[in-house]
Amino acid sequence: MQSERYDIIVCGGGMAGLSLVYRALKVGVWSKQKILIVEKNRKDQNDRTWCFWQKEEDQTAFEEIIFRKWNDLLFFSNDGKEIKLDTGSYGYTMIRSIDFYKHVLSFLESHDQVRFINEEVKSVLNKVGDAEVITETATYNAKYVFNSIYIKPTLKPHDQYFLQHFKGIKIQTDEFKGDPSQINFMDFRTSQENGATFFYTLPFSQTEIFTEYTIFSKKLLTQEEYDAGIRKYINDILKIKNYKIIEEECGVIPMTDYSFERRSGNVINIGSAGGDTRASTGYTFLNTQKTISKIIHSFTENNHPFFKDEQISKKHKVLDATFLNVFDLGLYPGDEIFTDLFKNVKAKTVFKFLDSESSVIDDLKIMSSLKAKYFIGPFLKVLANK
Ligand SMILES: Cc1cc2nc3c(=O)[nH]c(=O)nc-3n(C[C@H](O)[C@H](O)[C@H](O)COP(=O)(O)OP(=O)(O)OC[C@H]3O[C@@H](n4cnc5c(N)ncnc54)[C@H](O)[C@@H]3O)c2cc1C
Repeated sequence: MQSERYDIIVCGGGMAGLSLVYRALKVGVWSKQKILIVEKNRKDQNDRTWCFWQKEEDQTAFEEIIFRKWNDLLFFSNDGKEIKLDTGSYGYTMIRSIDFYKHVLSFLESHDQVRFINEEVKSVLNKVGDAEVITETATYNAKYVFNSIYIKPTLKPHDQYFLQHFKGIKIQTDEFKGDPSQINFMDFRTSQENGATFFYTLPFSQTEIFTEYTIFSKKLLTQEEYDAGIRKYINDILKIKNYKIIEEECGVIPMTDYSFERRSGNVINIGSAGGDTRASTGYTFLNTQKTISKIIHSFTENNHPFFKDEQISKKHKVLDATFLNVFDLGLYPGDEIFTDLFKNVKAKTVFKFLDSESSVIDDLKIMSSLKAKYFIGPFLKVLANK
């Protein structure tokens, strides 16, 4: 079996792996490193869209490939009450994965020290002061391995493992009556029988609309069920009868309070595999970028990738775990939780909370917006299992 040595190996060339290499090279911190990216797919499909909220003054490394930005966000409760969200200086940003892959891969092609190979990783091993990656055809060694390959963890009995599952479609129509500068950030005007269920509707223009049917539950639906739910929403709520489907996206994002390992020796887990997915929402893009900032900062300052303080703090992990346990009991339905939250707290405070930047006062505002009696038992359970 062939064997090769690199300074850095990245397992999984998806959002986290490619972001890391791109950003480290952009700032010059890895200019002398020999880097290998091992990815099983070609990354030439628009397999997902990444959305996240972003303060006007904060920029990610990917400003030039932003596809759309919206500042007007609406929330609809299950009984049809509309709430115009006060997002302050936050906008809602969207990046299409195909633009991201093309942009990053063409940048990497111009760097001779980077090799991107299409192989399937079979194992990643931590060795003393070193790390090893084994594929079907070769063994690769490096000082540091960044792993973004997600494998469902072995859960402890008290761990929650919800799925955020969704099907989204992009449609073309002449019948859209809404305002393309406004999005339905969470629209609960749909049946809640399968768990917390909402639509997420992003108009790209007056004639192209993306709408996604999203459910937080432990069980997936059949394709027919997703399709029927989407048809009903487009007909009954968006009042569109004639449309053509031009793109489809399906996905499952784990929402779990399982404690992911950031690091095992010189193997550093990043992205969903490293715990960068927020358990209460599934949002991952921005948390991963913030983790990468910490890695790059550590390399710049200390010439190693290790860092101490996680982007998603312990406090926020406890609160997320509490939310999952409340969902699990089912006594306070998800649509009511989100309605109480957005009715009583400004969206900019909720975004601060979800970015792990909320103060104790912000956290108190959030907790007091909800029905406390449903949270006491789950909160104590989470603390007891920590
Ligand atoms: C459809 C969809 C939409 C999403 N939308 C959002 C959003 O709007 N906002 C947000 O914040 N988050 C979103 N997420 C969640 C999260 O941001 C994405 O899943 C994101 O891609 C996670 O980045 P990652 O690098 O951890 O994983 P990935 O991007 O999935 O990268 C992992 C890579 O590893 C490769 N791989 C897996 N196994 C192997 C193997 N054995 N050998 C070699 N390569 C392997 C995969 O092909 C993949 O390219 C979405 C997720 C999905 C599925």
